[in-house]
Amino acid sequence: MKALVFAEHKDGQLKKIAFENVSLAKQLGLDFECVVIGGDINAAELGNFGAGKVIHYKKDGEYSPDGYAAILAEAMDNSSADLLIMGATSMGKDLAPRVAAKINAAVATDCTEVEMDGGDLKIVRPMYAGKVLATIKLSSAKKVITVRPNVYNAEENKNTANIESKSSNVDFKTVVKEIISSAGAKLDVTEADIVVSGGRGLKGPENWHLIEDLATALGAAQGASRAAVDAGWRPHDEQVGQTGKTVAPSLYIAIGISGAIQHLAGMSSSKYIVAINKDPEAPIFKVADYGIVADLFDVVPRMIEELK
Ligand SMILES: Cc1cc2nc3c(=O)[nH]c(=O)nc-3n(C[C@H](O)[C@H](O)[C@H](O)COP(=O)(O)OP(=O)(O)OC[C@H]3O[C@@H](n4cnc5c(N)ncnc54)[C@H](O)[C@@H]3O)c2cc1C
Repeated sequence: MKALVFAEHKDGQLKKIAFENVSLAKQLGLDFECVVIGGDINAAELGNFGAGKVIHYKKDGEYSPDGYAAILAEAMDNSSADLLIMGATSMGKDLAPRVAAKINAAVATDCTEVEMDGGDLKIVRPMYAGKVLATIKLSSAKKVITVRPNVYNAEENKNTANIESKSSNVDFKTVVKEIISSAGAKLDVTEADIVVSGGRGLKGPENWHLIEDLATALGAAQGASRAAVDAGWRPHDEQVGQTGKTVAPSLYIAIGISGAIQHLAGMSSSKYIVAINKDPEAPIFKVADYGIVADLFDVVPRMIEELK
């Protein structure tokens, strides 16, 4: 099976998910090439993870859903690849169905396991907000998959990538002209290796410094339950769960979060889960690897102190 790995970047840097997907393609033993769309990107970095060839479409400017989808469809045709691998990121979610429609492919989104099974792909993906793990095969000739960030390790595998620079005549019809506000440079919950999340148990935004300080001490991203977001304590881009973001960090620390099913839907595939809650019956303890039954206002300052 021949594959293309779409390598996403942000602020001039390739994203970790790009390296993770190169490692996945390598691990699956696929014959693959990478595709980068954008101007000033060090595409050769993909070689550090085993990429042998990178097709670099030198297109400056902001993201365009139509334009990127058209370029990826063109790249799939030119390389006669059967499979396109992308990240299950905001951009991946936006692009995967658009490209799939253009190349008549089936799509599997948010895959958490991908393996080869007799020359075909066998994929596991959560459905119904994580209540079911479906094992699926895509029956179409062309396939598009998006892989959840942080599920596969980006493993160094030194290679010298051959970079093919390309220009494309694709018309970027819809272009993001101006970004009015952005999440800024803060670490995104979906990409962080450690996430510290807070919930209603924090009692109010004035106590959020406990989450901030613990996250800073651990080099973690901050997350929040929907209760904290709905109350206006935190921005929506930090919400973890069914109607927020899905995260799979190495370590997820849930503080003052009860563990409602909709919250678990967004974080239960984290490698290690630590819960701090004063209620020993809180459902979060059912998924936690380590639990601290205590008042967060007592425990969290001590953890911060200890870590400092
Ligand atoms: C369609 C739908 C979609 C939803 N999507 C999401 C989603 O994406 N993400 C999400 O999070 N929720 C989502 N929800 C809401 C979800 O059902 C819960 O209401 C929400 O997760 C509760 O947030 P919480 O755990 O912060 O608050 P609570 O359930 O109120 O829990 C607060 C916890 O803090 C503990 N606590 C209180 N004081 C302390 C203290 N001093 N020390 C230690 N512990 C303390 C309590 O024991 C309690 O367990 C959704 C709901 C619906 C219906």
